[in-house]
Amino acid sequence: MRPTPRPGILEIAPYVGGRAEVGSGRPAIKLSSNESAIGPSKEATAACNEAASALHRYPDGGSERLRAAIARRFNLDAARVVCGAGSDELIALLIKAYAGPGDEVLYSRHGFLMYRLSALAAGAHPVDAPERDLTTDVDALLARVTSRTKLVFVANPNNPTGSYLPAAELARLHAGLPAHVLLVVDAAYAEYVDVPDYSDGTDLALRHPNVVMTRTFSKLFGLAALRLGWMLGSPEVVEVINRVRSPFNVSAPAQAAGVAALADVAHQERAKAHNDRWLPWLKGRIEGLGLTVHPSVGNFLLVAFPKDAGRDAAAASTFLEARGIIPREMGGYGLGHCLRISVGTKEENEALMAALEDFRAKAS
Ligand SMILES: *Cc1c(COP(=O)(O)O)cnc(C)c1O
Repeated sequence: MRPTPRPGILEIAPYVGGRAEVGSGRPAIKLSSNESAIGPSKEATAACNEAASALHRYPDGGSERLRAAIARRFNLDAARVVCGAGSDELIALLIKAYAGPGDEVLYSRHGFLMYRLSALAAGAHPVDAPERDLTTDVDALLARVTSRTKLVFVANPNNPTGSYLPAAELARLHAGLPAHVLLVVDAAYAEYVDVPDYSDGTDLALRHPNVVMTRTFSKLFGLAALRLGWMLGSPEVVEVINRVRSPFNVSAPAQAAGVAALADVAHQERAKAHNDRWLPWLKGRIEGLGLTVHPSVGNFLLVAFPKDAGRDAAAASTFLEARGIIPREMGGYGLGHCLRISVGTKEENEALMAALEDFRAKAS
């Protein structure tokens, strides 16, 4: 006899984050986790450092100042915002609160991995729906809704594919869901998007009690290390999540940095402008090497390689790594022929292209 975890727990393959080192101890060019190429706001770093002088105090359990700052910045009611230790925590809490054994959590095939992992952790059954052209397929999702479906997750735009669901499609998905199903729109990359038919889900979350939108400070705001995210939901869902979250789930340095990062609009604009410049540059250059690059509205690209040995994604990954460059391998997403590559600094992007050119020349 020994302690045994609940069914489902041992099915969880632990989440493997983007690697940070290449082994040799050399500083690596880390393009594996979609972090901000330009780093955090100096104001945010300063606020974090200042908070370090009071590390003996518990943080504000309601993240009041931060929620007020989020509400101001995005023109929302702070009472409908909950902050979390990364949006990952909020995803896990939503599933924990609304699904358990016998329930289904639905998402699209190449959707963000945390939906599956958190569903298994809650003892619920993860269900995926096929995609069309690596894009969420509303009809395929709706066809898999059953009386046991409790949550549907859509990352908009999606990681790792970079594709997005137009606002009308998101609304059509919501309209097709039974009222007992909670639709979660994960808008981790919303700040990077400026296509006109995009919705981050705010409109739906404001109008419908069964829609939640999640956001993060880990991507454009450059605060991944602090673990900070937030969600917008109906008063009922907000109350539920406030019951299940731990009372001090967001650290004081994270709250302080979040407030400062929101105020530093110029830094946000620099991050956006950097991406606007380098995302298309990388896409064009990589396509110029004869590789397929899926259209992306995020801060990363999904690149498909040929399947033949020596020219495939695994070989490219090994080659890049020998040059100190770390892309993200995609086997865990069922996209083993692809690599996901985050937009880096100018120097990092140029080093990436030089290495990819050499790889393609060597392998041709
Ligand atoms: C990075 C990412 C997140 C996680 O963000 P954290 O706030 O760092 O937990 C959530 N969803 C998607 C789609 C992501 O790519």
